[in-house]
Amino acid sequence: MKYIVVTGGVLSGLGKGVTTASIGRILKDKGYTVIPMKIDGYVNVDPGTMNPYEHGEVYVLDDGSETDLDLGHYERFLNIDLTGASNMTTGSVYQTVIDKERRGDYLGKTVQLIPHITDEIKNRIKQFKVDVVLIEVGGTVGDIENRIFIEALRQMSRDPENEFIFIHLSYVPIILSGEQKTKPTQHSVKELLSLGIQPDVLVGRCEKELSAETKRKIALFCGVGPGNVLSNPDLEDIYYLPLVLNQQNLTEIIISKLNLKRMPVYSSKFSDLVEKIHTCKEEVDIGIIGKYTGLEDAYMSIKEAFKHAGAYNSCKVNLSWIEAEEIGVEHLSQFDGLLVPGGFGSRGVEGKITTIQYARENNVPLLGICLGMQLMVVEFARNVCNLKGASSTEADPKTPHPVIDLLPEQKEIYRKGGTMRLGAYPCVIKEKTLASRLYGMDQVSERHRHRWEVNPKYIETLTENGFVFSGKYPNKNLMEMVELPKHRYFIGSQFHPEFKSRLEKPAPLFVGLVRAAINRQVAGD
Ligand code: GLN
Repeated sequence: MKYIVVTGGVLSGLGKGVTTASIGRILKDKGYTVIPMKIDGYVNVDPGTMNPYEHGEVYVLDDGSETDLDLGHYERFLNIDLTGASNMTTGSVYQTVIDKERRGDYLGKTVQLIPHITDEIKNRIKQFKVDVVLIEVGGTVGDIENRIFIEALRQMSRDPENEFIFIHLSYVPIILSGEQKTKPTQHSVKELLSLGIQPDVLVGRCEKELSAETKRKIALFCGVGPGNVLSNPDLEDIYYLPLVLNQQNLTEIIISKLNLKRMPVYSSKFSDLVEKIHTCKEEVDIGIIGKYTGLEDAYMSIKEAFKHAGAYNSCKVNLSWIEAEEIGVEHLSQFDGLLVPGGFGSRGVEGKITTIQYARENNVPLLGICLGMQLMVVEFARNVCNLKGASSTEADPKTPHPVIDLLPEQKEIYRKGGTMRLGAYPCVIKEKTLASRLYGMDQVSERHRHRWEVNPKYIETLTENGFVFSGKYPNKNLMEMVELPKHRYFIGSQFHPEFKSRLEKPAPLFVGLVRAAINRQVAGD
C-alpha cells in the first residue's frame, strides 16, 4: 500500500489540516483515490466531550462520528464523505486494546505499547483499500502524545510491502531584519530523525514565499533535495493552497516517490471554483450571534459554508462574530442578515432570543441552526403565542412551557460521550415552503448533533399561530425545519447544514441566506 504522512514541527496551528487536505485534492485531481485520516494524541475517545474553546469545532460525519475539525477540511477539499475510521485518537486505540484484554484475547500475554498498541494503530491504517492513504499526525513532532503513532508509522514504512512519503510542515519565522529563519525547522527535523524518520519533503509555513537561500539552507541541513523544499505562504484564501502546492511540483514528487501509476485525470474545476471566491459582484455583512465567538475555529464549518454560498452568489460575505451575552438591538441594525448557530447550555440564550425577535419583527434575513432553531421556536412561543416563560428545558428546567424538551429516551441517558442524536437523518420537506424552494427536493439528508427536540405537545399551538414546520424526520415525527411564510427569510434547521457544504455543493440554507441578504440590500428596507 502507499501512504503519505504529514507531520508538523515547531508549533501547532500552522494549518497542517488544510495542507493535508490540499495534498489530497491535488492527488484526487490527478485521478487517484485517496482516503485521509487524522491522528489525535489526546486521551479522549473522540472530541465530542471537549469545549470548542479548547479544541475548535466538533465536526460530525454521516455515520454519527464526532471528529476533529480537520475532517471537515478533508471532506470540503476532497468533496467526499468520510467515516469515523478516518479519525483515530489515543483514547480510542487504548479503549479497543483494553476491551480486547478484558475479553481475554491476549490470554497469557503481557499487553504492551509495542506491539499491541502499535498493532492496533497499524490495523486501523491498513483497513483502507485505496490508491493512497493520507495520514495527518496531529500536534508537533516531539510531543509525548503522538510518539507511539509515529513509531507505528515508522514500523510500517520499513515493511517492504509499503511505500511511504513523509512530508513535514514546519514554521519559518521572519525576524525584524526581514530574514527568514530556518533554525526552528532544523530542530524539528532533528526531532523527527530521533524518532527514526527522515522526511522526504519539507513545507515551510511562512508569511512570504521561501527565498532561494532559505530553501537551500533547509535542504542542506535537513537532508532533502532542493526541489523538495516547498513554500506554504499566507494566502488570500485557504482554497488556493492546492494550486500553490501543485505549481511547486508536489504532485509529481509524490507520484514518483510512491511509484504511482498514471491515471486518467479526474475532471476538476477546482481552480474555477476557487476563482469564484474572489470574483464577486456583491458584498453583504452577516452577523453571527454565538457563544464561542472569541475563537473562530469553534465555527469553522459555518465560516466555510458562507464562503461556498458567497462564491455561488458571486458575493463577498463579511462575517462579524458577536457574543450573545453582550448583544443589544443596536448592534444588529448594521447587518444585512443574521445567523444564530448551535450551542449548549444556558449562557447567551436570552441574547440569541433578542436577536431572533429583532429579525422576525424587522423582516431581517435569519438562519437558525440547531440551538438557533430551537430558540426560534421559544421566541415565537413567548412573543406570538403568548406562552409566558416558554423555554427549552436545557436553559430553564422549570419553565412552565417546555416547547423544547428532551425525548423520553434521552431522559434515560446519563453517559455524555457519543449519546446525542448524531449523524445523518432523512428529512422530508413540506411542499410549497421556503425549505422546498431552497432544496428543490422533497427529501434530504443532513447531519445532527443535539439532545433536545421540539416538544410535540406544542406543535398545534405554534402552527395555529402561523409557525410552519417545513421539515420532519418522519419515522419519529421530529421537527427538522421551521419557517415563517410572510417573512423575507426566517428559517431554522434542527440539523447542521454547514457540515455538508462544499465549494462544489454549497448548503442551500446558506445560499438562501446570502441571497436574501443581497435582496434586502437592494430593497433598501
Ligand atoms: N444544546 C442543544 C441540544 O443539545 C443544541 C445543540 C446544538 O446546537 N448543536 O439539543
